Amino acid sequence: MSHTLKTATVLVVDDALDSIEIVNQILQDDYRVLFALCGVMGLSIAQQQKPDIILLDVSMPDMDGYQVCRELKTNPDTRDIPVIFVTGKNEDEDQEMGFHLGGADYLTKPVRPATVKVRVKNQLQLRQNEALIMQQALYDNLTHLPNRNLIQDRLRYMIAKDKRESLKTALLFIDLDDFKTINDTLGHDVGDQLLVEAAKRLRRCVREADMVGRLGGDEFVVILAELKQIDSAIKVAETILATFSRPIVISDMEMVITASIGIAVSPDDGDNDKRLLSNADAAMYQSKHAGRNNYHLFNEAMNLNIKRRMVMEHHLRHALERNELKVHYQAIVDVKTHTVLGAEALLRWHSPKLGKVAPDEFIGLAEQSGLIESIGEFVLHQSCVYFQELNQKLTQPLFLAVNISPQQFRRGYFPQLVSDILKETGFNPRQLELEVTEGLLLAPQSNIKTALQDLRDLGIRLSMDDFGTGYSSLSYLRNFPFDTLKIDRSFIMELEQKPEDQALVTAIIAMAHALGLKVVAEGVENRAQLNLLATKQCDMVQGFLFSRPEPQISLKKQSGI
Ligand code: C2E
Ligand code: MG
Ligand code: MG
Repeated sequence: MSHTLKTATVLVVDDALDSIEIVNQILQDDYRVLFALCGVMGLSIAQQQKPDIILLDVSMPDMDGYQVCRELKTNPDTRDIPVIFVTGKNEDEDQEMGFHLGGADYLTKPVRPATVKVRVKNQLQLRQNEALIMQQALYDNLTHLPNRNLIQDRLRYMIAKDKRESLKTALLFIDLDDFKTINDTLGHDVGDQLLVEAAKRLRRCVREADMVGRLGGDEFVVILAELKQIDSAIKVAETILATFSRPIVISDMEMVITASIGIAVSPDDGDNDKRLLSNADAAMYQSKHAGRNNYHLFNEAMNLNIKRRMVMEHHLRHALERNELKVHYQAIVDVKTHTVLGAEALLRWHSPKLGKVAPDEFIGLAEQSGLIESIGEFVLHQSCVYFQELNQKLTQPLFLAVNISPQQFRRGYFPQLVSDILKETGFNPRQLELEVTEGLLLAPQSNIKTALQDLRDLGIRLSMDDFGTGYSSLSYLRNFPFDTLKIDRSFIMELEQKPEDQALVTAIIAMAHALGLKVVAEGVENRAQLNLLATKQCDMVQGFLFSRPEPQISLKKQSGI
């Protein structure tokens, strides 16, 4: 067969080394021969190497040849590879079983070299003819992409697999904008070249494992398999739009062609191929209606949500350099004397496009996208500069509390970064307190404990933020070198009305004091809360009662307190 064009690959799966040796001697001059010494290995090599033919032993210890054949035939990647059983079993039933499972031929050991050669050659020849016919049946002639038959087949397979493995498959339905006009005015030749170029560009936007197909006309699909997050589908859609925006030159004519994309995700938007295709099509029409050169998800709620996040991430990327981020400060006050002892730095983002965005919304996004590293560094630097200047004017210096995300510990060595900033700004480490949440202590990095200890060795204090919302584990407080515990606002909010919250707060304070920690109550909004906290020996409070987060910290006491 094709070994005149390319050397065909034969995979021999057999647990007996001497059998392998014999077959190798027979075939090695004409073919590339691969081996597997057991069924599982055979399956994995077949999947990776896509041999042209497989010679398969039946009796093997881990998985017999019949089982291997069954698995080969259920996997679309390997099911068309002809399998010749080569075995010592020569009963009629054995042969029947082999053919029944989709085996192409059956040879009994001991094998004769001439027979092996001829049978292998026959199968490869047959396969080549079949491949030609298949090519016609499953691929598009013009672009050589999979056609509707193969697309549907693949979708069916992926959807079934996803069900078993709780994954998702995204289907992108792509329709070129104004293709008909081009075809009608410039001719079919130009139209065809455009489709071929579109196919090439689409292929470049996806991974090897993803499928790009042509449904017909100017309609293409992309199948993104085994997705964990639909965000990846959105990213591909955006890449496709960007790729198409580059002009295409055909017969010295430069044209720009855009596309409208609809996305449906299985199983949520359809658990069979037809439904998924029709829903992706419907989503594509939304893109057409919305002005083309655009993508839409089938699910409207998801559409809004994801688009907002994508838009937000895009703007957040530039927020720092465009000076849209500001640090505000909220006073932390002594419970009894009401003197301001320090303040917490809280980030504010005013985006010209999105308006004011709350930290609870954008900090998470910054953490996911990696932007938190530069943003966090900015907050630390900015607030140290401000506090250094402020403290020089005060007789009693204030402490500065800065929130740190777990991701900031990831790259480089975080204590070094902090120490550099302290040196550069001249800010006294003893007046710096870093607030972390329990999430940090759960992070898989092994260096967290050392990093926290190193920060402490620099003279910096550590505070456990939002206590009570996470695991609230006592052992964390014991095992890590904390100085302060901040009781989450959710326990303070209804403190006056809820005896159970009062009991909890009492217990937390007693425990913290027993461990030698100071306690700050967050979110104190009225006098009743303040008084209760004072009777419970809470050390400090923070909340709207004394001050909202402001661009500059106000040292004046709130009137009436
Ligand atoms: P957090 O560290 O627990 O900060 C306290 C939050 O409670 C702040 O919300 C503050 O404005 C709010 N708050 C304080 N007193 C009161 C009150 O009396 N009533 C009410 N209703 N709220 C009060 P904010 O500024 O929206 O920040 C939310 C969260 O975002 C922060 O919670 C913190 O986890 C995070 N965050 C803010 N800035 C940064 C930053 O620079 N870096 C990092 N990694 N996270 C930050
Ligand atoms: Mg905080
Ligand atoms: Mg907090």
